Amino acid sequence: MYYKSTRGYSKKYLSKEAIVKGIAEDGGLFVSECIPKIDKSLFELKNMDYKQLAYFIMNKFFDDFKEEELKYCIDRAYDEKFDTEIIAPVNKKAGAYFLELYHGPTIAFKDMALSILPYLLKVASKQVLEDKEIVILTATSGDTGKAALEGFANVEGTKIVVFFPENGVSKVQKMQMVTQEGDNTYVIGINGNFDDAQTGVKNIFNDKEFNKRANEKKYVFSSANSINIGRLIPQVVYYFYAYLQMCKKEEINCGENINVVVPTGNFGNILAAYIAKEMGLPIDKLICASNDNNVLYDFINTGVYDKRREFVTTISPSMDILVSSNLERLLYFISEGNVKDVKEYMELLNGEGHYNINNQMKDRLKDFYGGFASEEETYKCIKEVFSADNYLIDTHTAVAYCAYEKYKNETGDNTKTVIASTASPFKFTRSVMKAISNEYDKFDEFELMDKMEELTGIKIPNGVKDIDKKKIKHKTVCEKENMDKEIANILNI
Ligand SMILES: *Cc1c(COP(=O)(O)O)cnc(C)c1O
Repeated sequence: MYYKSTRGYSKKYLSKEAIVKGIAEDGGLFVSECIPKIDKSLFELKNMDYKQLAYFIMNKFFDDFKEEELKYCIDRAYDEKFDTEIIAPVNKKAGAYFLELYHGPTIAFKDMALSILPYLLKVASKQVLEDKEIVILTATSGDTGKAALEGFANVEGTKIVVFFPENGVSKVQKMQMVTQEGDNTYVIGINGNFDDAQTGVKNIFNDKEFNKRANEKKYVFSSANSINIGRLIPQVVYYFYAYLQMCKKEEINCGENINVVVPTGNFGNILAAYIAKEMGLPIDKLICASNDNNVLYDFINTGVYDKRREFVTTISPSMDILVSSNLERLLYFISEGNVKDVKEYMELLNGEGHYNINNQMKDRLKDFYGGFASEEETYKCIKEVFSADNYLIDTHTAVAYCAYEKYKNETGDNTKTVIASTASPFKFTRSVMKAISNEYDKFDEFELMDKMEELTGIKIPNGVKDIDKKKIKHKTVCEKENMDKEIANILNI
């Protein structure tokens, strides 16, 4: 399997090279030349555990990894770091199937891919980089940062630098990051929002002069953001896994169509669901759920992507994004690999702030349904699901649930539906408890963890327990224009 850029640079790469590089030389994203079909029936796959299934799926994309290399990565990723052997359980509640992707160390779905990416990089770089050291640059809207830090902390031959919007993440998210241990970890707040952080990181990747200076000191930059295919592909696994769990429990017949709802920001998670569908998983509708930053909702409904709008800070901060990076890959797929068009759209987005896809591409968007939830609706959905089934969901998952409700009301479609449950409610205690009752307003985020434990009978996850008492190790805050200077400072280049 070869990888090439969405923007036309014709050179082909093996997956190991694509994973190490992170982003293509022309600024495009790596895509596999084709999307492989599964060559076993769902019935045959039904009894695989998470690791076996992960190997089955990933091997199709990362076929330049030797069997023992890929298995080494998978074994180290999906182990006791997760608080359940099932890794990603499906919970049937309030008329939907919640795929709980938050049982990893940082209690958000980013762990699903970021627990394996460091190992994929380690194996790949041995072959690709020889004696160079990898510096992971990551922009985060809150969850990626911690998951990446956790994954890379103390991994030999790597350093990791995380930039987060100083005033755009929850208190728990911030504490998780600034208390990170490990000699190779650096966490920096920026005065700006997530898009600023992401643009800053992308600019550094594209700054030839800066990269040259780093290379001279034997550093190579790579990315832990979902622009890296080493993050995208591991996410395909759990859609299959969810489906197979439902088969096994006889909630569906093996082969029956399901719908999938994904609370979306950078379009990575839902793109993984799209890839699963293209591989042969019987998914009918892909329901893309947005919060008040509903640029994707508009795009799916009109074919116009327009980032010229106010950036809103919401109670689902990990989705506060106006430039959805991975959408570029979808454009590639729905244009049937028309790199010239993709490049033009991306240039328009950069220059004018908007683009309008052609009718043929619009047609191919019909697998998607765009929905969104306002803040008020998000609170309401948390309460609704809790009242229905004593099941507490976080704000991001609530946005997805809302979009699902709207979809059902609009279409009458009662296909069984999986909702990607992307974070534990313990990560967003303030907003989640506010949704349940305003009597909780008087407590702080950390006291609310105890209240949440009382309310649900679920123990505070290890990832956030006593987090307020940990020592703050990272205090740097910089202007968004100075991200490169901070990196230069760390690397002494
Ligand atoms: C990152 C994140 C999302 C958005 O996922 P994308 O892959 O960026 O679309 C949704 N919910 C939570 C909790 C997240 O951390």
